Amino acid sequence: MSHSPSIPDRPDLDLDSSMSEAERLDALRRHLARIVEVNGELEERLAETRARQDDLREEVEHLTRENETLKTSSEYVATVQERSADGVIVKQHGNNQEVLTEVGEDLAEELEPGDRVAVNDSFSVQKTLDDETDVRAQAMQIDRSPSVTYEDVGGLEEQIQDVREAVEIPLETPERFATVGIEPPAGVLLHGPPGTGKTMLAKAVANRTDATFIKMAGSELVHKFIGEGARLVRDLFQLAEDHEPSIIFIDEIDAIASKRTDSKTSGDAEVQRTMMQLLSNMDGFEERGDIRIIAATNRFDMLDEAILRPGRFDRLIEVPKPTEEAREAIFAIHTRGMNVEDGVDFAKLARETPDASGADVKAICTEAGMFAIRDERDEVTMADFLSAKEKLSHATGDDEVSKTFA
Ligand code: ATP
Repeated sequence: MSHSPSIPDRPDLDLDSSMSEAERLDALRRHLARIVEVNGELEERLAETRARQDDLREEVEHLTRENETLKTSSEYVATVQERSADGVIVKQHGNNQEVLTEVGEDLAEELEPGDRVAVNDSFSVQKTLDDETDVRAQAMQIDRSPSVTYEDVGGLEEQIQDVREAVEIPLETPERFATVGIEPPAGVLLHGPPGTGKTMLAKAVANRTDATFIKMAGSELVHKFIGEGARLVRDLFQLAEDHEPSIIFIDEIDAIASKRTDSKTSGDAEVQRTMMQLLSNMDGFEERGDIRIIAATNRFDMLDEAILRPGRFDRLIEVPKPTEEAREAIFAIHTRGMNVEDGVDFAKLARETPDASGADVKAICTEAGMFAIRDERDEVTMADFLSAKEKLSHATGDDEVSKTFA
């Protein structure tokens, strides 16, 4: 801090009527000299004060900036685990660190386990976040009454039978299991190549049992919600409980339940946590009542064995590529609503598409319809189906897929 000397006094002018002209002139000169001197002193003081003012202005700007930074600094997202007399236990997303922290009385009242909150560097809870339903909605699809029925699924009679036993009977007549004295299977795993009807089967059983169908894609869980996978799994089961009876369908389960790899990246650890959460939810499953869980994968070979243990996905149902007979049935199913000419021979089409999946057969039917529309015809002919088959086998330059329609 600079010293602040007192402001010099205004010099007095001593003029006396008894003074001679020369004396008065001399007095005036001295007075002027004194004034010039005081003026010089004052200018010096002014310059000093200006410099000090600049210093202070700079300091104010610096503090304002610092204040802004403090006010806008990032906060971490955490989930409330537990409330206790000593405060709340929060678990930070990402590193899963659990901390006991105190919260102000106003917030303490409204915090519930499972709430998402923002915490600062010292883990003190700043506010609650309320967008959890949006996150859930993005990751999960809910279909209260799917329209697919068993009649829409071609050629999977055995698999339908298995799914009915493992999912439908426990939901509709659980006492049958109780009478015999065995536990119904906890989870059903459908495995087989893409486009063979796994999702359809799960939807059909939901339709049949009037259950809400809740679908979650394993790959989305892993890619979009890094740090939140485990929480979303808990949400998924909670949502299923809120909508009982319900069927949870986890598509591409291999994304979260692959065999452990050697790499120890944080991404892997996150996937691992998501899977552990899934297993723990499944282990506590029987008390959950009217919820059944079906998972699907195209990569059975990749699955971690932990997920296949008894009490988890202990009922495995293989959904293979359709046989010739099944393809014929699938052609019939997908042309049910189409205006097809009498001469169309599904048996021949099935014979000529040896490697086609159910989804491929559907694509051929749609494309055949497109040919008829382009020709401005109302009826779809055998030639349309054959052209569609040709077109789709050429469309992809991929050998694997071309082979499908060879
Ligand atoms: P992915 O593994 O790629 O998820 P998926 O096995 O779950 O495939 P679905 O989604 O059930 O396959 O099938 C895709 C579409 O293919 C269905 O909407 C249906 O139109 C048709 N489809 C597949 N399989 C059959 C089938 N067996 N019977 C009738 N249609 C089928």
